[in-house]
Amino acid sequence: MEKLNISRLKEIVGEKNVKDDPADLYIYGTDASVHQAMPWAVVRPENAGQVQEIMRYANSEKIPVIPRGSGSGMCGQTVPVNGGIILDMKRMNKILEINLEDVYCRVEPGVIDDDLNKALKPYNVFFPPTPASSIIATIGGEIANNASGVRSVKYGAARDSLLGVKLVLASGDMISFGTTTRVEASGYQIERIIAGSEGTLGVIVEATLKFVPLPTIRCLGMTNFNKLEEAGDSISEIMASGCTPSMLELVDNVAIKAINNALKLNLPDVDAILIFEADGMVKEAVDFEITKIKDICETHGGFGTELSFDEKERERIYTGRKKLFPSLSKYKELMPSTSLADDMTVPYSKMAETTRKIHEIAKQNNIIMSAYGHCGSGCMHTKILMDTTKSESWKAAEKAVAQIYEYVNSVGGTTSAEHGIGISKAPAFKIEKAASLELMRGIKKAFDPNNILNPGKLQDASDDWLNATKLRYTVSDKCE
Ligand SMILES: Cc1cc2nc3c(=O)[nH]c(=O)nc-3n(C[C@H](O)[C@H](O)[C@H](O)COP(=O)(O)OP(=O)(O)OC[C@H]3O[C@@H](n4cnc5c(N)ncnc54)[C@H](O)[C@@H]3O)c2cc1C
Repeated sequence: MEKLNISRLKEIVGEKNVKDDPADLYIYGTDASVHQAMPWAVVRPENAGQVQEIMRYANSEKIPVIPRGSGSGMCGQTVPVNGGIILDMKRMNKILEINLEDVYCRVEPGVIDDDLNKALKPYNVFFPPTPASSIIATIGGEIANNASGVRSVKYGAARDSLLGVKLVLASGDMISFGTTTRVEASGYQIERIIAGSEGTLGVIVEATLKFVPLPTIRCLGMTNFNKLEEAGDSISEIMASGCTPSMLELVDNVAIKAINNALKLNLPDVDAILIFEADGMVKEAVDFEITKIKDICETHGGFGTELSFDEKERERIYTGRKKLFPSLSKYKELMPSTSLADDMTVPYSKMAETTRKIHEIAKQNNIIMSAYGHCGSGCMHTKILMDTTKSESWKAAEKAVAQIYEYVNSVGGTTSAEHGIGISKAPAFKIEKAASLELMRGIKKAFDPNNILNPGKLQDASDDWLNATKLRYTVSDKCE
């Protein structure tokens, strides 16, 4: 802290773009996770040149720098475990080029996902990763987290839409990686490891992204199941059937209850609901696919199916799933919803078993957990609902999280589907990737020899997430 020269930072970005009062630092010291740690300053650059100057200064003084978009990460990726400078990239929010002929766009990292899609819409194209947080998520944050969303089952995650990046390294040097062409076999594709690097390898100052045609026809369906296993079998068969659903979502009974509590939607009190969508340009093709998916569900015991091509009806059917996350917070009074073990991936055949396992583990540890998610991508979301003012709740959550990841590992799943690793998932990530941690440390060292970019994350994160930082929501949590 003592070594930080605030005046130098103000010289680079201007007085009003450096913040160091405790209230701002407190806000910037957290994200959508359970973690909190105080940064030393927040700096808001306007262009790549300023980012280069900040990095040169920080590197010379070995000051940590944590790139940040909107801070909507759910596992503490932007929480400054070693203090340092939060580099708020939201002022760099220009869409630089929309190239229809070569089907790509170039954007600054602070562009918000929804704003990019608004700009693309008049051309009947879209940028598809679209996380549920698209109203706030920046393109830089989406790339660095390798974010994905409900339609990623068909269109892929952020990495799949990424053609190239311009990166400012820890040294302050700037390098462009990638191409504007569709395929590339010209050696290492460095841009692909920048996706998912969580701000540890460089600061993204520009991204080249591909976009795809907006489908003109969408049909959404919803089917109920009395047994989770029936929904699980349907998921496996749909994904093996040759269908390419543009959405396939699972909602479990805890989530259904939460939705009904919060939104009074009167969804049936069943074990599971599957929501599915087919899209395309030809009605007959979409019809064929949605009927096939519906038939598979019904063969496995699905009932009460609703289907609609109509936009308003589709919105109505999807309301519960769309508002599920905030609904979970209202499940029970004094039981906030915490993002812990929140987005593992498992093979399709293990979806139902995973959901049951989550409920079993929750019961054993006396906490409430929901299970829902983008099951077409194998992504299972959970939230832990607990009394966060009690230390025994945290201890129970810690145990549940460890048990869940042990199970996920045992069935060949992976720690994170889309929310990233940050702090809270680092212990599980380090167990899962044990064989490649040293290689990852070598890559990190090549990009950032002084370890100043988001230090203490991924392979270098603490093995004890519960004590790695202060925890939000606890009664003892005070603003320092
Ligand atoms: C309600 C809610 C719903 C969500 N739904 C989804 C979902 O459906 N799918 C999903 O994938 N995620 C989801 N998330 C998590 C999160 O919103 C996304 O991962 C999002 O992409 C993060 O964007 P951000 O701009 O907030 O990034 P931040 O949280 O600010 O940063 C995320 C990571 O990116 C790094 N970073 C940011 N900008 C740069 C840059 N310019 N250069 C280098 N590194 C950078 C940071 O250091 C950090 O490691 C959700 C979060 C919330 C709160």
